[in-house]
Amino acid sequence: MIRAGLIVEGIGELATLARGPVPRIGPALGDLGLVHGATLGIDGGRFVFVGTAREARRTLRLRSGGTRWDAEGAVVVPGFVDPHTHVLFAGDRHREVEAKIRGASYAEIAKKGGGLYSTVRATREASDADLLRATSGRLRRMAAAGTTTAEVKSGYALDHSGELRLLGLVPRLARSTGLRLVPTYLGAHAVPPEFAGRADAYVDGMISRTLPVVARDRLAGACDVFCEPGFFSVAQSERLLRAAAALGLRTRIHADEFVRLGGARLAARLRTASADHLLATRPSDHAALARAGVTAVLLPVTAFASLTTARPPGRELVDAGAAVAVGSDLSPNSWVESMPTVLSHAVYGARLTPSEALAAATVNAAHALGISDEAGSIAVGRSADFSTFRLGAADEIAYRVGAVPERVYRQGIRVSSSEVGP
Ligand code: ZN
Repeated sequence: MIRAGLIVEGIGELATLARGPVPRIGPALGDLGLVHGATLGIDGGRFVFVGTAREARRTLRLRSGGTRWDAEGAVVVPGFVDPHTHVLFAGDRHREVEAKIRGASYAEIAKKGGGLYSTVRATREASDADLLRATSGRLRRMAAAGTTTAEVKSGYALDHSGELRLLGLVPRLARSTGLRLVPTYLGAHAVPPEFAGRADAYVDGMISRTLPVVARDRLAGACDVFCEPGFFSVAQSERLLRAAAALGLRTRIHADEFVRLGGARLAARLRTASADHLLATRPSDHAALARAGVTAVLLPVTAFASLTTARPPGRELVDAGAAVAVGSDLSPNSWVESMPTVLSHAVYGARLTPSEALAAATVNAAHALGISDEAGSIAVGRSADFSTFRLGAADEIAYRVGAVPERVYRQGIRVSSSEVGP
C-alpha cells in the first residue's frame, strides 16, 4: 500500500513526459506519455504514485490529515523548466520600445545610453535588497504561470566582484520563492565599458580570476558566452568555454542569433550542453548539433520582441534530429514571464507542434540543465512539480496564446496567488 499526503484525482489528461529516451529527439519529441483518467499521489514533496484511477483504488491511500483534490477533468502537466533566463537585473527598458519600433538599431540605442549597458549601470548601482525584491517578483509571476524550475544567468555586472555577487543571490532567491533555480555564470554577456576594445584582456581576467572562484565555490554549474560580432568572437568564446570545461563546468553558448558567426559550429565541436538562439543558422549547423548531441535551446519570444524577420528554426532542428528545448530568455529586452506564452511562440513562431513545444519546455529543458532525473517529468520519485489547466487537452496550452494554469504545485505545495506580487 502506498500512502500519500496529497492525492490529485479526476485528472482528464495527464502528460507525464516520463516514458522514452531523454532527451527526446525526432518523432519521440511529440510523445507526451499521456494517461487519461489519472490519479497522482504525492508525499514528502515527491510523486509516490502516478497511474489510473483504477490502479489508485487498489494501491493508494490518503494519510490521515492529508488532502484529496478532485481535478474534475483538468489537464495536468509537469512544472515548466525554463532553461534560459536573464531574470536577475535591476531596472527596465520599456522606454526603448518606441525607438525600436521606429527602427533604431541596437547600436543606436546603446549610443544614447540605453540597451544592455543601461541595465549594467542599474544593476551595479542596485543594492542586494533591491535586486532580490525585483527578481523575486518576476520569479513568483513565472511560478504562477507554471514555471517550477528556472535557469538564472549572471551577466549584468560584468566585473569580478559584481558577477560573484549576482551568483551569490541565486540561492537566496531560490529559498525565498521556492523555485528550483540553476545558476549560470555569464560574465561574457558583453565586453564591459572599462574594457572597450580589449575583449581579450577581459576574457583573460574571467579565465584567470573569476571562473576558478565560480567553480571552487560552486556558485554556478555552467558557463555561458555571448558569441556575436561586437561581443565575443568564436576564438574568445572557445578559449573561455575550454577553461570552464577544464574546471568541471557545463558549457553553453549564445550562438548565431544576429549573424551566422559560427557559434553553433563551435558548440558542436566542443560538445557544449546547449547552443541557444540559433536564428541565423543553416541546415549544416542543425545537422552538426544533432551529431554532437548538443541541445538546441530556442528562445522564440526574443525573435518576436527584437522585431526580427528571422524565424527560430524549430521545425528544421527537430527534423534534423537535434534535441530541442525552449526557454523564455526573460530579460529587459524581451520580458516574458509566462512559459505558456513561450510555448505558443514555439508553435506559431518556431513551428514545433503543441506536443513538441510542451516536451521541449519540460523534459528536454531539464536535460539541457542536467537535471532530468529530478525535474521536467511526472514519475514516481521525481519532485512533485506540476500545473493544472482547465482545458480539454495538453495540446491546448500552446494553442491558446497566453493560457493560465488553474493551480501550480512545487514539491507538492500549492503556489498561492497572493505570492505573485507586483
Ligand atoms: Zn540569453
